[in-house]
Amino acid sequence: MEKIYLYNTLTRSKEQLKPIDPPTVTMYSCGPTVYNYAHIGNLRTYVFMDELRRTLKFGGYKTKSVMNITDVGHLVSDGDDGEDKMQTAAKKQNKSPEEIAAMYSSVFFKDLERLNILTPEIIAKATDNITEMIEFVKTLCELGYGYETDDGIYFDISKFDGYGKLSRCNIEDALAGARVAVNTQKRHPADFALWKKAEKNHIMQWQSPWGMGYPGWHIECSTMSKKYLGERFDIHTGGVDHIPIHHENEIAQSEALEGHKVVNMWMHGEFMLVDGGKMSKSLGNVYTIDDLAARGYSPLAFRYFCMNTHYRNKLNFTFTGLDGAQTAYDRLRTSISASANASNNADAKTVEKLSEYKAGIKAAVFDDLNFPLALGELWSISKLPACREVYDTVKELDAIFGLELHVPLEKKQDEIPDDIKAIAEERFEARKSKDWAKSDVLRDKLAELGYSVLDSKTGYELKRK
Ligand code: AMP
Ligand code: ZN
Repeated sequence: MEKIYLYNTLTRSKEQLKPIDPPTVTMYSCGPTVYNYAHIGNLRTYVFMDELRRTLKFGGYKTKSVMNITDVGHLVSDGDDGEDKMQTAAKKQNKSPEEIAAMYSSVFFKDLERLNILTPEIIAKATDNITEMIEFVKTLCELGYGYETDDGIYFDISKFDGYGKLSRCNIEDALAGARVAVNTQKRHPADFALWKKAEKNHIMQWQSPWGMGYPGWHIECSTMSKKYLGERFDIHTGGVDHIPIHHENEIAQSEALEGHKVVNMWMHGEFMLVDGGKMSKSLGNVYTIDDLAARGYSPLAFRYFCMNTHYRNKLNFTFTGLDGAQTAYDRLRTSISASANASNNADAKTVEKLSEYKAGIKAAVFDDLNFPLALGELWSISKLPACREVYDTVKELDAIFGLELHVPLEKKQDEIPDDIKAIAEERFEARKSKDWAKSDVLRDKLAELGYSVLDSKTGYELKRK
C-alpha cells in the first residue's frame, strides 16, 4: 500500500491516509437528489469522487464506498421549510415520486458511465432505509438530543459540544444566521429537522412513533453511512456547499449517537462556476452532459476538463474552455494511441523517461489528487517515440485517469450521440407521415447542432458536418 496524503477539511491540513481496517478504505459520498438531471457542476463533484476512488485502488487499497440516492426529504429551501424537491417535480410532471426518482436515477447512472466514473460498491436509496432512520431519530431523542414540536422532531444543537467544528463557525454564528426561522417552537433557531410530520397532502409519508411523516435530509446520510460502514469510517466526500449545514449536521447527529468521532477525513470538491458565476435556470446556463454531447463534445473531454483543475480550486466552465479541453484531449489521445499499433520496443532512454514520468504521475496523485500535475506528466509521455511500452504504460495508468487515451480516437468520433439520433428518427417519422414543416424544423435543429441528413427512398444518412 502506497502512502497517500489527502486534505482533510476538518483539520484544514493534508494528512496521511491511515485506514481503520487496511487495506480497505471505507468511504461515503453524498449522492444526488434525483428530482432533475444532474448538471455539469454536480458531475464535477462525482469526477472528484472517482479521482479519489481510482487513486486509492491504484495505491493498493480496496474501497468500500457508499453513495446515497436522495429520493425523499430534500426540501426546496435546502433547510427545513418548503416542499420536498421530489414532490414538486412529481406534481409538475404529473408522475409519482417513484417514477421521477427512477427516471432521473437512470439518467444519472448513464452519465456516470459516459464519464467513466466507477459506480461505488454500494448504492443506498433513502426510501429503502426509512426504518433505520426512525430508529436513529428515536435514539437521539432518548439521549436527549432530539425533541418534538408540532411539525416534527428537531436536533438541539446547543446539546452537542463542537457544533460548527467543520465549518469553523461557532454556535452564536449559527444562531445569528438562522434568526429568520419560521418555526417558533424550536428551542434554537438553528436547530434542524430530524423528522418532519406530514401534512395530509404530502405524497411521501411513513408511519413513525410521531405519526405519519418523512425523514430530514441530513439524517439520511448519517443513517446510511452507519448501516453500511459502521460507527467509524475513513472518508466522507461531497461538494463544498455541504460543509456549513449538511455535513455539520451529519457530524452532530452521528457523533451524538455514537459518543465519539465517526468520520476520520472530510473531503470536499470545490464548485464549478459557469461564465464566472452561479449556475441557475433563470440564467439558462445549467448544462447537462447531454447538452454538451449534443453540441459535439465528448463526455471524456469534459472529464479531462474537470481533471485539469485541482478538485480544491474553483473551476470556471466556458465553452471556449471546453473547446480547449476537447482539442487537447483529442491531441493527447491521438498521440498516445499511435503507440497502439507499434511493434517496436522502446530504446533505453525512452524506458528511463517512461519510468520517470510514471513515478511523477504516482507522486502527483498520491499527493492530494494532483491530477493537473499528473496530466502534465502524461503529456510528456505522449511526446516519447511511439512504442509498445508507451502503449502498455498508458493503458495501465488509465486505471487512474479513466480517459481511454490508449484507445484510438476514430472509433469514438464517428459515434453519433443518442439524442441526435433521436431527433433524426423523429424527423424520419415526420417525413413518413408527410409532415414536411416538422421535418424541416428538425433538419434545421440538426444543422444547428452540427449534423446533416441526406434522405434516400428508404431512409436517411446522418453525418457530423
Ligand atoms: P444535489 O443533487 O443538489 O444534492 O447535489 C449533488 C452534489 O453536487 C453535491 O455533492 C453538491 O455538493 C454538488 N454540487 C452542486 N452544485 C455544484 C456545483 N456548481 N459545482 C460542483 N458541485 C456541485
Ligand atoms: Zn449527504
